[in-house]
Amino acid sequence: MAYGDRTNCKACGREIVQLSGGHRQRQYCDDTCKHTAFRRRQEEKHLEELRQRWVGFTPATQLYLDWLMTRYGEELATSVAVTIAREIVDQRRNRDALGG
Ligand SMILES: [Zn+2]
Repeated sequence: MAYGDRTNCKACGREIVQLSGGHRQRQYCDDTCKHTAFRRRQEEKHLEELRQRWVGFTPATQLYLDWLMTRYGEELATSVAVTIAREIVDQRRNRDALGG
């Protein structure tokens, strides 16, 4: 990577002209983009944790369960998740019993 070489910001995609000398290759335009990228990675990590924790539920339900957990604690969120899961199983069983 030499002076004047061009890369793109990893956060916003704008072109970055690399500096000369012993500088490390710049990956972001500025601190704002650097922070944006950091925040995105944190959010992605959080969403991945959600998917793992509430596996089997739709993304909308996962977000709701996450909100419940943040606001009221894990015990309530888990018991709601268990209730929803049981409801789904019971509904399916009833449908099957009716031959529908
Ligand atoms: Zn940028």
